[in-house]
Amino acid sequence: MEHVPRDDGAGRNERESPLGSEAIHDELDERAAGVARQVVAWRRHLHRHPELSNREVNTARFVADRLRVLGIDEVRTGIAGHGVVGVLRGGMPGERVVALRADMDALPVRDLCGTDFASEVVDGDYPGGPFPVSHACGHDCHTAALLGAATVLAGVRDRLPGTVLFVFQPAEEGPPVTEEGGARAMVEAGAFADPVPTMAFGLHVTPHPKGYVGYRVGNQYGASSLVRIVVTGKQTHGSTPWEGVDPMPAVGAVLTGIGQLYRQVSAFDAVTVSIGHVEDVGRFNIVGQTVTLWGTVRCAVESDMGRVQDRLTTLAEHSAAAYGATAAVEYLQSVPPVHNSGPWVEAGLPTFRRVVGEERVLEAGATLGYDDVSEFVSRFGGLYVMLGVQDAILDAAGRPVPEPGGRGLVTNHNPHFYADDDTLVTGVRLHAHVAYDHLTGALVPRDGA
Ligand SMILES: [Zn+2]
Ligand SMILES: [Zn+2]
Repeated sequence: MEHVPRDDGAGRNERESPLGSEAIHDELDERAAGVARQVVAWRRHLHRHPELSNREVNTARFVADRLRVLGIDEVRTGIAGHGVVGVLRGGMPGERVVALRADMDALPVRDLCGTDFASEVVDGDYPGGPFPVSHACGHDCHTAALLGAATVLAGVRDRLPGTVLFVFQPAEEGPPVTEEGGARAMVEAGAFADPVPTMAFGLHVTPHPKGYVGYRVGNQYGASSLVRIVVTGKQTHGSTPWEGVDPMPAVGAVLTGIGQLYRQVSAFDAVTVSIGHVEDVGRFNIVGQTVTLWGTVRCAVESDMGRVQDRLTTLAEHSAAAYGATAAVEYLQSVPPVHNSGPWVEAGLPTFRRVVGEERVLEAGATLGYDDVSEFVSRFGGLYVMLGVQDAILDAAGRPVPEPGGRGLVTNHNPHFYADDDTLVTGVRLHAHVAYDHLTGALVPRDGA
């Protein structure tokens, strides 16, 4: 095995390249500062022109055009829908391949972020729509920051010992249920067959103090699946319910029963089932035939997922039967948890500390969010971190609280979600430093991961 220099203490600011030359971290930072204003402009353009999952046509074209302008060796497009992968081959010999990932899709959420680049887009053709569309999850920031990192790394390609893949992923938020898409679809389309990554890295903007990096050993995000429950009765006139079977009371029983599911799974590991959308084919004077419930199942531990699904299916079927109706339950779009292994975190911490300063690298709590970057990190190894982008400070217990006089804390997917533009350069630097450190052998897990 080759010799790999290790960081032996927290907060060390510079590491020697194993190649014998000076590490070029300062130059990465200077180049990041040089592209910072451009990144903000890209982000605002993307924010103003959001596209829903599996419809990222113009976003993908925007990304591919910029990668070509940078002279990236190869720009692969149309991967699993609108995925784009830029391949940058370093000018020095090296076997490692780092995949830097950004998701590109937006959400069917009205944009109330309060900036002059807020989205006014409405997608009239999307299944289930029309929908107002906005980057309420901040993927505009991810895409712009990764384009910035591509700019930085293309500028130092002659000193990169290995390959960088810039992965712009569609449909992270989940494609329409009749379509395939997202991270797993990119893998299945062969996007990572040649070259195969030796590390994947992703980040997500989050309501933490600006410029803070949150990491977690273990599951950062939970396992997720989409649930569709179709409760079927028998349609009849609203004045004669005894002539049919009303699915509505069965739906009420299912919704109420979900509140009891958590008590049947685990005392310690969080589970959530949320029904966010109810579709009823009835009318004020018609007892409809079916009611469809759309929701999401989240488990902090993946092994709980099967049990939760079994319980929920039983609940739905039996509740429906109690009211003379039937229920069909399906689980779709399952995503594994985002898991950071101990050896990978240990390898990555010196890099994170160099980029944002030791005091701004925090252990983050696990959440029941999901991110299908897990499909990459679990296959190839690597890391996923949170990047704070809001007007927040930490309280005495280390929890983010609103900064006095600031815009407050707003969670992703909320119409008021906002991200501070000036912090995006930190995302650029994170990507660039992680990539450089991995390729030069400074950021690799000690014992395998
Ligand atoms: Zn999201
Ligand atoms: Zn997101």
